[in-house]
Amino acid sequence: MSEKKKEKKKRLSKASLKQATRIFKYVKPYRWQFAFGIVLISLSGVFTLLVTRLWGQLGGVGVQQPEQDDIRSYFDFEFNFSDLGSLAVIIFAVLVIQAIMSFTRVILFARITENMMLALRKDTYQKIIRMPMQYFNEQRVGDLNSRISADITSIQDVFTTTLAELLRQLIVIVGGIAALLFFSPTLTFIMLSTLPVVIIIAVIFGRFIRKLSKKTQDQVAESNVVVQETLTGIVNVKSFANELLEVTRYMGNITEIKKFALKGAWWRASFSSFIILFIFGAISLVIFKGADLMAAGELDSEYFFSFLLMTGLVAGSIGGIAAQFAQLQRGIGAIENVMDILELDPEPVVIESPSFKQRALKGEIEFQRLQFHYDSRKEIQVINDLSFRASAGDHVAIVGPSGAGKSTIASLILQFYVPQAGKVQFDGVDASEYDLTELRSQMAFVPQEVILFGGSIKENIAYGNPEASDEEIHQAAAQANALQFIDQFPDGLDTIVGERGIQLSGGQRQRIAIARAVLKNPTILILDEATSSLDSESERLVQDALDKLMKGRTSVVIAHRLSTIRSADKIIVLDGGIKVEEGKHEELITIENGVYRGLVELQSQLVS
Ligand code: ATP
Repeated sequence: MSEKKKEKKKRLSKASLKQATRIFKYVKPYRWQFAFGIVLISLSGVFTLLVTRLWGQLGGVGVQQPEQDDIRSYFDFEFNFSDLGSLAVIIFAVLVIQAIMSFTRVILFARITENMMLALRKDTYQKIIRMPMQYFNEQRVGDLNSRISADITSIQDVFTTTLAELLRQLIVIVGGIAALLFFSPTLTFIMLSTLPVVIIIAVIFGRFIRKLSKKTQDQVAESNVVVQETLTGIVNVKSFANELLEVTRYMGNITEIKKFALKGAWWRASFSSFIILFIFGAISLVIFKGADLMAAGELDSEYFFSFLLMTGLVAGSIGGIAAQFAQLQRGIGAIENVMDILELDPEPVVIESPSFKQRALKGEIEFQRLQFHYDSRKEIQVINDLSFRASAGDHVAIVGPSGAGKSTIASLILQFYVPQAGKVQFDGVDASEYDLTELRSQMAFVPQEVILFGGSIKENIAYGNPEASDEEIHQAAAQANALQFIDQFPDGLDTIVGERGIQLSGGQRQRIAIARAVLKNPTILILDEATSSLDSESERLVQDALDKLMKGRTSVVIAHRLSTIRSADKIIVLDGGIKVEEGKHEELITIENGVYRGLVELQSQLVS
C-alpha cells in the first residue's frame, strides 16, 4: 500500500486540494477567530506597503526643498507631508499599529492552531488505537509514529504561519505592483518583464527541490524505522552477533540520505543563485532607468525612492512565496495522510463513555464451525471448522504442535479478528451482539511474552483496573505470588521496570501480568502459557498463582507443558487448525496412536 500512497503524496492536484479541505472540520469551531486573523494579516500587508511608501516620501523630502503647501488633514490632525518631523510621527504611529496587530495575530493563530492540533492529535491517536488487530499486522510502528508527530507538525506549520504568510505576501505583491504602476508605469513594465521569467523558472526549480526533499524525508523515515526495529529487537541483534549486518543496513540508508540531501542542496543553491541574479539584476536595471528618468525630470524623487523600496519588497515577497508554497504543499500531503487515518473504520470499542451499560457474562464460550485465515495470509487456513464449548467455570486446555493455531484461538476469543465463517458465542449469544468493550472488559489475557509498560510495578499492575486502591494492588500482587520478589526491591511496588519491563526476569514479568489479571477480576481468563521454561521454583510460584487466578472463572489455557493440564475439564487437541481430539486427560491418554498421547509421551521422554 505504501508505494501507492507515496505516489499520491507527491502531487498537488485539484483532487488533493479537495481532500485537504477535510481539515476544515477542525477549523470550523474557530472560523470567526480565523476570519479575524485573516483581516489582521491583510491589514498588516497593507500597512507594510504604507510604511514603504512613507519611507520613500522621507527619501524624497530629504533630497528636495520642503514644499509648504503639501498639507493634508486626517481626523482633525494636520500633517505636513513635506516635513520630516510630521512624517516621522506618521511612520511611528503606523509601526505601532502594525506591531500591535502582528502581536494579536500571532497569538490568535497560535491559539486556534493549538486547539486544532489538540483535537487532531487526540482524534488520530484515538482512531489508531481503536483499529482492529489486522491493521497493526500491516503497519509499521515507525510509520504510525510519524503520522502522529511529523505530519501533524507540518499541518501545524501551515495554520500557524504558512497560510498567513502566503496571504500577506500576495497582498504585498498585488498592492505593490498597483502602487508601482501609479509611481511609474515605464519602470514597472521594465521590472515586470523580468519577473514572469523568474517565476516560471522558480516553479520548475521548486518542483525539483520538493521532489528531492520528499525523497530525503522518506529516506530519513526509513532509516528511523531501521533504528527503531533494531533497538526493539536488540536481543536478536546481539544474540545473532548481527551488529555489523545492522550497521551495514543502516549505512545503506544514511548514505542514501546524504546523496539525496546533497543533490537537494545543489538544486537549492542553483535556485538561490538564480533568484539573486534575476531579482537583483532587475533591481539594478530599474535603478539605472529610474535615475535616468529622474535626471530627465520625468520622475519625482519621492516616487523614485518609494519605487525602489517597494520593488525590493515585492521582489522579496515573490522570492519568499515559493518557499511558503512548498510548505503548503507539504502540509497538504500531511493533511491527506492524517485525514486518511481519520477516515479508517475502527473496531467498535467504547472509548468516550466508560460508564456504558454492561451485561455481566456468566462465562460460557462456544465456537461453532469456525473458519479463519489472517487477511495478510489468505492462503493459510489457520482454523478449520472448529467447534468446542466451554461451560461457565470450565477449565479448557488447548494443546497441539507449534503453528497449530492455538494463539489464534486466544485472539478469536478476545475478538481481535472476525472469523470468515462460523460463530463465537458468549452465554449463547453471538459475539457480534455484544459491544467489544463489554466483552473485553470481562476477560483477562495473560500472554506468552509479557511486555510491560515503562513505569513502575504498581502502575503496571494497576493497568488491570486503573481505579484500584493501593491496598487492592498490594493484594493482587500477593495473590500472584509477586510480593516475594517485589518486597526485595528497595522501592517495592514503586520499582521502575525499565522499557518494556526488561529489568525484570521472565517469571517476574509473568507474575506481574497475573497480578494485573487478578485486579481485573475477569469472568473469562485466557492464558497463553510461556514456552520458555522457568526454573522449577519460579514455575511453581507462577503455576500456583495461575491456579488461584483460574478458580471460579472460565479459563482457556494454551498449554505447552502438558503436566499442568491434567485436571482440565476439557482438553482440545489441535493440529493444522483442525480439532483432532477432545476430552479429559484420562480419556485422551488411552487413545492408541492418539496425538495427545503422542505429545505426552514425547514430553515425558524429554523430561526423563
Ligand atoms: P505456537 O505454539 O508456536 O505459539 P500456535 O499454535 O499458537 O503456535 P498460531 O500462533 O495461532 O499457532 O499460528 C497459527 C498459524 O497462523 C501459523 O501458520 C502462523 O504463521 C499464522 N499466523 C499467526 N499470526 C499471524 C498473523 N498475525 N498474520 C498472519 N499469519 C499469522
